[in-house]
Amino acid sequence: MQRGGLPDLEWLEGHEYCDNVWDVLSGSTQIRASVLLFDGIGDHSAACCTEILAAHGAKVELAYRGHHAAQKTGYFNYPIYLKHYYEKGVVQTPDHRLIKVEKSNQQLCSTLENELTGQVEKRLTDQVIVEHGTVPLDDLYEALRAGSSNNGSVDMDRLLAGQSQTPQGELNGYELFRVGDAVSCRDIHCAILDSRRLCKDL
Ligand SMILES: Cc1cc2nc3c(=O)[nH]c(=O)nc-3n(C[C@H](O)[C@H](O)[C@H](O)COP(=O)(O)OP(=O)(O)OC[C@H]3O[C@@H](n4cnc5c(N)ncnc54)[C@H](O)[C@@H]3O)c2cc1C
Repeated sequence: MQRGGLPDLEWLEGHEYCDNVWDVLSGSTQIRASVLLFDGIGDHSAACCTEILAAHGAKVELAYRGHHAAQKTGYFNYPIYLKHYYEKGVVQTPDHRLIKVEKSNQQLCSTLENELTGQVEKRLTDQVIVEHGTVPLDDLYEALRAGSSNNGSVDMDRLLAGQSQTPQGELNGYELFRVGDAVSCRDIHCAILDSRRLCKDL
């Protein structure tokens, strides 16, 4: 799948044994009987992935940073997710981060650390899924940069003044801008706002 960003997993020791939420949501990975999902972001992607795993009949533990699950999804959304988790028997483990994942016979052994106490715990599951946002996929931007009239940069003074990047009649060739997830892992609103501010006068 080609996107503005790619799942950010390589920071994790043992990431090669893990799946990401895109694998589950796209149906490209098989859901196993027992699953640990680590959510380092707190947004809709892990929240709805958890629902899908539970609806599929998996025994699910959702471990996450922060005090309640799905905390970035907002007041109107997270109570609904939590209600579904309680109804489906999803085990919720707040204030933990995933340290590493190792093979253990036919299963995976995950090491979790309590962020408040430092206490370390182990989990044995059939599958580990990790959500940690995306890293920018900027190969197209880099390939086009040298040929652009602005070397791919944004004139911040003109942007903040609400002016077009290049004064009318002065454009030589093409301008190139990087927006959305190709800059950093954010959301659809940021991608739209980035683009609108740069393109509104074209
Ligand atoms: C599972 C999931 C759930 C999400 N839920 C939400 C949500 O509820 N609310 C929200 O606001 N955000 C959500 N997001 C985040 C949101 O989808 C992204 O922040 C947003 O799509 C970023 O937009 P973008 O245009 O920067 O990148 P993208 O939407 O990823 O678009 C990039 C485009 O560039 C194309 N492309 C990339 N490289 C090349 C290349 N070399 N040549 C040609 N084309 C190329 C890709 O095919 C793609 O069409 C979610 C993300 C995921 C993964």
